[in-house]
Amino acid sequence: MAFTRATGKHRRPGRIHRGTARAAGVAALTGSGVVGSLAAPALAAEPAAAQTGITPVVTLGDTVADRIDAQAAAQHEAAREAAEAEARKAAEEAAREKAAKEAEKVRAEKERAAREAERERLNAFVSPIPGSYVSTGYKTGGAVWSSGSHTGVDFHAANGTPVQSVGAGTVVEAGWGGAYGNQVVIKMHDGTYTQYGHLSSVNVSAGQQVTPGQQIGLSGSTGNVTGAHLHFEARTSADYGSDLDPVAYLRAHGVSL
Ligand SMILES: [Zn+2]
Repeated sequence: MAFTRATGKHRRPGRIHRGTARAAGVAALTGSGVVGSLAAPALAAEPAAAQTGITPVVTLGDTVADRIDAQAAAQHEAAREAAEAEARKAAEEAAREKAAKEAEKVRAEKERAAREAERERLNAFVSPIPGSYVSTGYKTGGAVWSSGSHTGVDFHAANGTPVQSVGAGTVVEAGWGGAYGNQVVIKMHDGTYTQYGHLSSVNVSAGQQVTPGQQIGLSGSTGNVTGAHLHFEARTSADYGSDLDPVAYLRAHGVSL
């Protein structure tokens, strides 16, 4: 391949290369201030092309080629830097998006857990008087009950003991209930009803929402009773006679008695 000449992108053709020495001469003459008539005879021998500005242009060609090279290199560098910056920006944006998605996931999970905890709390059932016990059982016979048998259970409770709703629901009755004395009836979220009788005081009113364990009154001996206790009933409806076994009802809802 010796007979071929590498032709670089900005390589000057050989012909122009030969003009460089003469161009240097012109530059030297003009640089020394010898111009006009003095320079003319010397230049007269030169080929016309050398005097018509081609040579200086060619001379400049070296610089232009260098400039083009430098410019191309600079452009290449700038493009590379721009691409790098773009890639960095994209990576940063992706990282930001990932972090935001992660944060959103954590937030959503926390929210879900909080909702679940609240749902569990509202679905939970508790004893109407924590730590107390059933002193008179369900269906116990006796003259004291108008129906002839006990329609609920009695929890042992001294006068003034806090009484709480066994679950979440809405108060449907709060006040005097005849033989039940001061009473509260709550419609539970599952559609059943619970009743709390012989209260010395009532702390809720009809229409009020209550949560499991919320205090609704204090135990007492109002109504048809021989002593202070809490009469507790569970019913399938608000009507008298739709009573359920209260202990079985509470146990079915997870309460230990
Ligand atoms: Zn009772």
